[in-house]
Amino acid sequence: MIKKIFTEIQNSLLDFIYPPKCPICDAYIENRDDILCEECEEKILAVDHSPKKNDPIKEVWRITKYREGTREIIRDLKFNFNFKTLKAINKILEKAINESEQLNELLSKIDIAVAVPLYIDREKERGFNQVELIFGEFLKRQNISMERLIIRNRSTDHLYKLSPEERKTELVGAFSLVEGANEKIINKKILLLDDIFTTGTTMKECAKVFSENGVAEIYGLALASDY
Ligand SMILES: [Zn+2]
Repeated sequence: MIKKIFTEIQNSLLDFIYPPKCPICDAYIENRDDILCEECEEKILAVDHSPKKNDPIKEVWRITKYREGTREIIRDLKFNFNFKTLKAINKILEKAINESEQLNELLSKIDIAVAVPLYIDREKERGFNQVELIFGEFLKRQNISMERLIIRNRSTDHLYKLSPEERKTELVGAFSLVEGANEKIINKKILLLDDIFTTGTTMKECAKVFSENGVAEIYGLALASDY
């Protein structure tokens, strides 16, 4: 927490001394309330979805591409605790929903949104689950409630170091329903949320917990995909 406050003070001081730069292209930003430069903000959207067959998840949606700008934003939020990035993220999400009718359609049928949970020690250490921060305000505006219905049973750190096969093994049984969630999810349409969609193993493991417990449909939404 202290580290977080300190970093925030440091960020504001740096902002004061140096004009802010766009984290993607390094251009100076004229309006201090903006995070991305106008050009990058214009280019960053890459809304797309892939229907899944034989998968507990019906469709997985992404809003941007991780390696085309979102990486810097997510890192800034997760590791530098730069909460100003949330403003940029909200703008991006808002734009996505304004531009994609299909995304609108999807959200209109969702009953409950569930963020991929962090392991409790990890969340305590970071102080927040970035996925909840990323989508929180946006979902509120869409009148979709976000609930903590699953937990991560153990630490599954550094997944990015593992091969797709190793990830699968590492994540088997990593998630389970929280107490009392059963009644809430029966016949419901669930939207799973994550910051980055890579191999899909994490989302799939979360989805399994729901599909084994009577939900009607499961969809996925990631701020960025790594493809
Ligand atoms: Zn830029």
